[in-house]
Amino acid sequence: MSINGILQARAGAKCELCGAEQALTAFVVPHSSASDDDHSVALCDTCHGQLVQPDTLVVNHWRCLSDSMWSQVPAVQVMAWRQLKALAGAGEVWAQDLLDMMYMDEEVKTWAEAGLASDEDDRVVTVDSNGAVLQEGDAVTLIKDLDVKGAGFTAKRGTLVKGIRLTNNPLHIEGKVNGMQIVLVAAYLKKA
Ligand SMILES: [Zn+2]
Repeated sequence: MSINGILQARAGAKCELCGAEQALTAFVVPHSSASDDDHSVALCDTCHGQLVQPDTLVVNHWRCLSDSMWSQVPAVQVMAWRQLKALAGAGEVWAQDLLDMMYMDEEVKTWAEAGLASDEDDRVVTVDSNGAVLQEGDAVTLIKDLDVKGAGFTAKRGTLVKGIRLTNNPLHIEGKVNGMQIVLVAAYLKKA
């Protein structure tokens, strides 16, 4: 989304999280009740990129939050709080220290926490061909023959796979077939 004048003026042409003077993008804070300027932050490409693709996250970049968490802008406070919370959850002690120091009005805090609650609600689950939820360690059977690419064998329909492992992708699980750990498509499986 291109940035509008009001947001640009508020941000002072600097990224509202890290202060970089770069081209800015308007980012609507997730789980906002509206998508106006009050619920957006102006971000540089670095911050924006890492927020939308958390697997590209560079932990040290976010030390900038020790400044931006003191912003007067609620949307910036919410972003800073959520990002610190994520980092603290990943074991970053400095992030927890900052969280402990951070101050937010009750209303802003409720908004910040709204993101956490609903992230859990929307957590994607892995389901089998019947829609049954698959969990780590479950046993499944294949409901069709599957060519295992690169391994040169076909996993036959009816094969029992014990002790499956979930992956980052809710459509895939990992399991051992013919002594090999392979990725299986959850939709071709049935919970045993
Ligand atoms: Zn930035």
